Amino acid sequence: MTLESTPRIGTVYLIGAGPGDPGLITVRGMELLSTCDVVVYDRLAHPSLLSHARRGAEKIYVGKASAQHAMRQPDINALLIANALEGRSVARLKGGDPFVFGRGGEEAEECRAAGVPFQIVPGVTSAIAAPAYAGIPVTHRDAASSFAVITGHERDDARESGTRAPGEAEGRRNWVHIAHAADTLIFLMGVEALPEIASRLQENGRDSETPVALVQWGTWAQQRVVSGTLATIVEDVRQAGLTPPAVCVVGEVVKLRPALQWFESLTTSPLNGKRILVTRAREQASELSELLRAKGAEAVEFPVIRIAPLEDCTAIDEALGNLSTYDWVLFTSINAVPIFAERLSKLNLDARAFHGIKLAAIGPATADAVRRHLGIRADFVPTEAVAEAVLGQWPDPEMSGKRILFPRALEGRETLPEQMRARGAVVDVLPVYETLYDSESGEEMRRLLNEGRVDAITFTSASTVQNFALAVSIPSQSLAETVGKTRIVAIGPVTAAAAREFGLVVDLVADEHTIPGLATALETLWSPPHV
Ligand code: SAH
Repeated sequence: MTLESTPRIGTVYLIGAGPGDPGLITVRGMELLSTCDVVVYDRLAHPSLLSHARRGAEKIYVGKASAQHAMRQPDINALLIANALEGRSVARLKGGDPFVFGRGGEEAEECRAAGVPFQIVPGVTSAIAAPAYAGIPVTHRDAASSFAVITGHERDDARESGTRAPGEAEGRRNWVHIAHAADTLIFLMGVEALPEIASRLQENGRDSETPVALVQWGTWAQQRVVSGTLATIVEDVRQAGLTPPAVCVVGEVVKLRPALQWFESLTTSPLNGKRILVTRAREQASELSELLRAKGAEAVEFPVIRIAPLEDCTAIDEALGNLSTYDWVLFTSINAVPIFAERLSKLNLDARAFHGIKLAAIGPATADAVRRHLGIRADFVPTEAVAEAVLGQWPDPEMSGKRILFPRALEGRETLPEQMRARGAVVDVLPVYETLYDSESGEEMRRLLNEGRVDAITFTSASTVQNFALAVSIPSQSLAETVGKTRIVAIGPVTAAAAREFGLVVDLVADEHTIPGLATALETLWSPPHV
C-alpha cells in the first residue's frame, strides 16, 4: 500500500443530542453534526436533528424500541471504529448526555483500544431536563439539597452489553444505599422496574407518602407526566398506561410541580403534542415548522425536495440585461426570488434595474421575499394564489401586448403563462432553479411511519408528494399502506390532486393556500366537533 492510499483515521465524536427537544442540543454538538461524514443515532435522539447532517452524510440507525432488536453494543462499537478507520468522521449522536447511562464510556474505551481518536460533547441529560420540563427542580433550597441518578434496570443494561449473563446483576443492588443516596432520587430506565423500586425504597426507610413523578418523553411534544406517592405510583402508572422512555423522580421536590409546571400549558392549541412531518425543502421548512411548534406540535423536518439554482446562467443574465424591455416581472414562488436577486447582484445591478417595471408576487410569502431580497414592494399581490385570481385581479386593464418576465422553476406548470398568452400577453418563462429529489430522510421517515409515530404529513406542492412517494416507497407495499393512519394535509387543490394520484386519502385541503393557512387548517383536524 502506498502512503497516499492509506486513509487518514477519522475522529469519533460522542455527542449528547439532549433529551428530545431539538433546541436542547449544544452548539458544539450541532456544529459537528453538520460536518461529519457519518451520523450514528438511536431512538432517543430527536429525528429532526438529522436534517442538520451534512448533505450526503450517511445516517445509520442503531437503536430499536425493544432491546431484542437493537444493534448489539459490540456491533455498534465495531461500526464506529470501522468508519473511523476508513477515514470518515463519525457523529455518534446519543440521547441526553453520552456518559449518563449512554454506554458512551464503553464506546470511548473501544475507540481508544483501536487507536481511533475521539472527542466527547456533553449533552443535556434527561435525568435533569425531563423533570425540569415537568416543573420539577431536582434541587430546591426548601426541599432537596442533593440528587442522585440511578439506573432502574440494571439487568437489561447488563444483558444488552453482552458482558454478563442474564439475571447475574439481579439482587446485587444495595437498596439501603440507594434509598438514602440523596434527597431526590432520579431513576432512568425505571418503568418496568417501578414496582421493585417503589417497594424497595419503602422497605428501606423512604416514607410511603414520598411524592413520585414519572415523566414520559420529557421535553418532546408528546411529554406526559403521572404523579403519586411511593404507595400509589405503581397503580397510577398502570392506570395511565405509561410506557418507556420515562424518568422517575422521587422526593419532596415533586410537590413543586403544581406550582411550577409550564410546558404542558404553553398552548391550548389542539396541535399540542402532535407530531407533524414537514416535507418542504430544507431552506423553506422553517416557517411552517415554527408555526407548528408555536402551537405545541412537534415539527419533524424531512425535506424531500431540494432547491438548486440552475448552473447555466446565460439565459438569466440575458433576461436581466434586457429587463427594461419588460412591463412586468412575475414571481409565483419564493424560491425564484433570492436566486434572481443574487444573479442581479453578480451583474453589478441593483433594484434600480427595475425602474419603470412592475412586480407581481403570488402569495404574501413571495411578496415578502421580493421586499427582502430585491428591496422592492410588489405592485400586485392577488388575494388568492390561484391562476383565476391572478388573471381576474390583474391590475393592468389590458394584458394584451404586455411583456411579462416570469422567473420560476425549470419544471413549472404551464397553466398561468398559457392563460396570460391567451389574453395577448408576451410571457417569457425564465427557469432559474430546479427542484431536485432529496432522498436523505427516506429511511428514517419510513421507520417513524411504520412505528405509527406520525400524526400528520404536510404537502406543500405536487413535487413534495411525488418525492415523498419516491423516498418512502417499499416495493411490496402501496403508499397508502406505508402511510397507515397518518393524516394527509395539502396546501391546495393541485397538491391534493397529486396526493390522490398516489392513492393517498387527503384528509384536509387548506382553505387559504399559504403556509399560515396550512397551519391553521391542521388545527381543525383535531378540534372538537362543533355542536
Ligand atoms: N444518556 C441518556 C440516558 C440513556 S438511558 C440521558 O442522559 O438522558 C435511557 C433512559 O433515559 C430511558 O429509559 C429513560 O429513562 C431516559 N430518557 C431518555 N430520554 C428521555 C426523555 N426524553 N424522557 C424521559 N426519559 C428519558
